Amino acid sequence: MDRSTPREVRGGCLCGAVRFTVVMPTVFCAHCHCSMCRRNHGAAYVTWLSAPRGQVTVDCGTDQLTRYQSSEHGSRSFCSRCGSSLFCVSTRHPDIIDIPLANMDGPIDRAPESHIYFDDRAAWTFVADGLPRLGGASGLEPEQ
Ligand SMILES: [Zn+2]
Ligand SMILES: [Zn+2]
Repeated sequence: MDRSTPREVRGGCLCGAVRFTVVMPTVFCAHCHCSMCRRNHGAAYVTWLSAPRGQVTVDCGTDQLTRYQSSEHGSRSFCSRCGSSLFCVSTRHPDIIDIPLANMDGPIDRAPESHIYFDDRAAWTFVADGLPRLGGASGLEPEQ
């Protein structure tokens, strides 16, 4: 990106009870079309950033975070006061935390780079941004 990269970016939930800081660099940023993200956020798809666990600090509101085990390997934390979905973690990559890009206060160090789980997208979702569309069984395989 041509603008100067921030060293760290803060974020939070809708009500402000939960606040956190993500130290750059992040490792990934993509739009996820899986049905769990869709239902969890009430949106066509969810744009996630991924950051190493050691670079994410919850500054306040830890006591407001409620964890929902959304699959055998993954869980999602949300603010119990306002319901904002915040942190997604998976035992498949325990050193990484996924955070909705929309919950950050400002731009991070990268732009969304792909659509993942694209085969699972809602029938009413149309995208034409030219980004790679990944799908298949893993949700991350190149389009056939
Ligand atoms: Zn909240
Ligand atoms: Zn998803």
